[in-house]
Amino acid sequence: MLRFALRTLKNSIRSVPLCAGSKNFSTNFDKIPKETVDCVVIGAGVVGIAVARELALKGREVLVIESASTFGTGTSSRNSEVIHAGIYYRPKSFKAIFCVRGKELLYKYCSDHGVPHKQIGKLIVATGSSEIPKLNNILCHGIENGVSDLRMMEGFEAMQMEPELQCTKALLSPSTGIVDSHSLMLSLIGEAENHRTSFFYNTTVIGGHLEGNHMHLYIAENKDLEKSFEKFPLQPGLILIPKLVVNSAGLSASSLAKRFVGLPSGVIPPTHYARGCYFTLSNTRVSPFKHLIYPIPEDGGFGVHVTLDINGRVKFGPDVEWINDVDDISSLLNKFDYSVSADRAQSFYPKIRRYYPNLKDGSLEPGYAGIRPKLTAPRQSPADFFVQGEDIHGVNGLVNLFGIESPGLTSSMAIAEYIAANFLK
Ligand SMILES: Cc1cc2nc3c(=O)[nH]c(=O)nc-3n(C[C@H](O)[C@H](O)[C@H](O)COP(=O)(O)OP(=O)(O)OC[C@H]3O[C@@H](n4cnc5c(N)ncnc54)[C@H](O)[C@@H]3O)c2cc1C
Repeated sequence: MLRFALRTLKNSIRSVPLCAGSKNFSTNFDKIPKETVDCVVIGAGVVGIAVARELALKGREVLVIESASTFGTGTSSRNSEVIHAGIYYRPKSFKAIFCVRGKELLYKYCSDHGVPHKQIGKLIVATGSSEIPKLNNILCHGIENGVSDLRMMEGFEAMQMEPELQCTKALLSPSTGIVDSHSLMLSLIGEAENHRTSFFYNTTVIGGHLEGNHMHLYIAENKDLEKSFEKFPLQPGLILIPKLVVNSAGLSASSLAKRFVGLPSGVIPPTHYARGCYFTLSNTRVSPFKHLIYPIPEDGGFGVHVTLDINGRVKFGPDVEWINDVDDISSLLNKFDYSVSADRAQSFYPKIRRYYPNLKDGSLEPGYAGIRPKLTAPRQSPADFFVQGEDIHGVNGLVNLFGIESPGLTSSMAIAEYIAANFLK
């Protein structure tokens, strides 16, 4: 049955053209093939993939619809690849609960499945006495969140561990680590596929409507989408009618939800975008640090920190740059600017030198950038992850995941566990 549905899906998407006419969707859906399916996950980032695997392991048939040409090309491959301990987040928030649980699940999964990872530990550093109260607050948050292994250290102790470091005091988090996110996603996909999950790439969910209290999803093939989007209304090639749909579209989750006709618009939070750039160290393959080094967090992010990848390469970042010019169409089409301007390095040097004074002039090279989907604007308190189900929006079988910024990678398996436990009927 699933095989048949999938064949139909592939064929039918190709056979129905995008059509010209009024500005909105074409409303003549009679000729468009429809398929009733079990579960649809929108987006093959690490969260969507983890959700698909979890649903599949619970015996459900899952289709993953991904607009890019392969998995994990969005935020899931543009982050620090840190397995966070769960220290910073408001106690009892989803971020705190999912991060602590997700860390446990992730370490176990990586060990069991040979996914490259290392529990290398992290130092959060105060570089002046004015920052010490903030460090104490971070410690309290961590303890409240159930991170039981944190240890406050005097500056000299931390500097003995890390000779290149300069700090007044430091908080050691031994359970923080790093993971090869690509290998993680690949492994989760393999397992999901072995349990009746199918992944469709170059395929976009362009909207949907509510009918009989079920979301009908409009599916279109990608290749004509971009040139047609602004000029013509879109006609889907296929309508999928899932029992459960998980909108895990990352940066595009809000703009996609706005295109679900019948979903009360008041429940859809606006997404604010904050780019974070990374710089690498030129002329050296040897990292100056063995641990991850984090300053006190800044507005919108964790501060320009030192991370290491699984091969020991060092990078600094991400900074925070709020982006205002992302409209809903650009968001839906994944048209985000990930370029890293070399000029931004000038603001990195003083930030990094506060804890790494030996950083040489001219040693930073542009690396890559990621974008955070934030539910609050600059200078507002950080928002929690928003897992929005029927209890909030009233639509049976629709789960929207909004604002899945950091620690979304760490939390991915816990989010998946939560969705399977709470939304599967
Ligand atoms: C700079 C930065 C650093 C970070 N560092 C860390 C870290 O160290 N540790 C940590 O735990 N977390 C970190 N995070 C957060 C983490 O990377 C994200 O929370 C996580 O990757 C989100 O995964 P996702 O699957 O929700 O989104 P994404 O990876 O963005 O996936 C969403 C997918 O949906 C697809 N899509 C969008 N619209 C549609 C549509 N209409 N139809 C079909 N497909 C669609 C996109 O193409 C994309 O592939 C960081 C984030 C940033 C930005």
